[in-house]
Formats: sequence, structure tokens, C-alpha cells
Amino acid sequence: MRLQNKVALITGSARGMGRAAAELFAREGASIILTDIAEQDGVEVAASICANGGKALFVPANVARAEDVQQLVEAGISAFGTIDILYNNAGIMPTSDTSVLDTSEETWDQIMDVNLKSTFLCCKYVIPHMIEQQRGSIINISSMVVFLGCTVPQEAYGVAKGGLLALTKSLAIQYGPAGIRCNAICPGPINTGLLDHLWTSDEERNRRLSRIPLGRFGQINDIIYFALYLASDESSWTTGSWMTIDGGISSNYF
Ligand code: NAD
Repeated sequence: MRLQNKVALITGSARGMGRAAAELFAREGASIILTDIAEQDGVEVAASICANGGKALFVPANVARAEDVQQLVEAGISAFGTIDILYNNAGIMPTSDTSVLDTSEETWDQIMDVNLKSTFLCCKYVIPHMIEQQRGSIINISSMVVFLGCTVPQEAYGVAKGGLLALTKSLAIQYGPAGIRCNAICPGPINTGLLDHLWTSDEERNRRLSRIPLGRFGQINDIIYFALYLASDESSWTTGSWMTIDGGISSNYF
């Protein structure tokens, strides 16, 4: 197993890619600290991991709140003794995030809090434990939209995800000497609930599909198996990297 004896904290793990990553990492031998605002789903995912022979604990938390994150990390450490992998996955993409002219200050702040500040907070409370044990892998989920402009703007989302890339480089440099690695994944459009509001018609769907050289939208496994590599010791010389996984979209001029 690729994550034997490791402990992973995965944010936003009640649904979507976070949930699938939790289940995969558990199958690979890791103990999982799940967290989400979706409590019922989170409890169910943890129970199903345990029923399948894995180890998992669900701690409800809004990762945009310092107090919640502090309690989450304390609960995880007290259950499993350590945190080897911090997977900053929680994110939102509200339809109210559009152009600079139309986006409200409230929407802007909400997206910065959930998509960027949450990673700052999780790192703030987890990194001291990683320094103590002189090892750790931090995985930040950014987005391909950071690299491209779009005629359908989501300004706050793109800016928050861009901030994660800057933070990724800085953490890699600061904490590399303490054995802590930090990398980011930049997914293209993946089939999860997050994008449902964008794919409301065949026309909208096909417009996006026509831009993808590999001819399909992404699947959850396209992302989480790369995260598994980053979480494992197989990537022990990989840090500060931004991996784009987007079916070739961001390489496509025409
Ligand atoms: P999803 O909506 O299926 O899952 C996100 C999870 O985060 C949900 O369970 C949600 O309840 C949780 N969450 C939201 N706010 C939270 C908060 N404040 N505290 C704790 N948990 C919270 O989305 P997904 O598609 O699985 O996305 C996962 C990550 O991947 C996100 O950061 C997203 O921005 C990023 N991403 C997704 C895509 C895509 O196409 N789906 C593309 C690029 C990047």
C-alpha cells in the first residue's frame, strides 16, 4: 500500500473529489481525518471507510474559520497522533462570482475565505506538527483557470486559486529544509457537483468540450491519483510544483 502508516487530513471530504480522495487514501493504508460543513455526508463517508476496514474520523468544520480549524487539527492529532498529509481541497464556486463590475463585496470575501484563507489556516495549525516530526506533504487544489482568461468571468475564484499557487511556492521554500513538501494541482473541468450550474444545457457543455484536445471532461480519478503520488513517498523530491491536469485545454490556442 502506498500510504501505509500515514495520516491524511482532507478538507471538503464529504463530497466530490475530496470524498473520493479520502476513500482512495484509506484503501492505500492511510488513516483519514475528514472534514466538511456537510455533516451528514461526512459522517457517512467516515462510517463507510471504517466499514471497509479503513481508519477514519469525521470532524465537522468550516475551514474558513480559525477556531474550527484549530479544533479540527487538535481532534485529528488526538485521534491519530500526527498529520503527515494536508490536502487542502475544500472550495466553492458560487454563481454570484462574475465580473469585477457585478460581483458583490460579500461574494468576493466569501470566496477568498473558503478558497484561500482556509488553506492559510490549515497550514497555520498543521505545519507546526509537521516541523516537529520533520516530514509532511501539503497538497493545494488550485485550478487551471488561473492560467487563462475566460469570456465567462469568475474573478474571485480565479484570484483565490492564483493565491494558492503563490502560497504553494512560498511554503515549499520555507519548509523544505524541515522535510515538508508543498505542491499544487490545477484541474480543468472535472465531472463533480461543483460545475453543475455551468453545464445546464448541451450548448454550454459542448462549447466547453470543443476546447479540450483529449475530447472529454475530466473524471475524479484523473486528479486524485496524482494527489496520491504527491501524498506518498514516491514524490519525495517533488516540491513547489504546479501540476496542470486539464486534458490539454490550457495548451490549446485553436
Ligand atoms: P464539490 O462541491 O463536489 O466538493 C467540495 C466540498 O467542499 C463539498 O463537500 C463542500 O461541502 C466542501 N466545503 C465547501 N465549503 C466548505 C467550508 N467552508 N468548510 C469545509 N468544507 C467546505 O467540489 P469538487 O469539484 O470536488 O471540488 C474540490 C476542489 O477542486 C475545490 O477546491 C474546487 O475549487 C477544485 N476544482 C474543481 C474543479 C472541477 O471542475 N470540479 C476544477 C478545478 C478545481
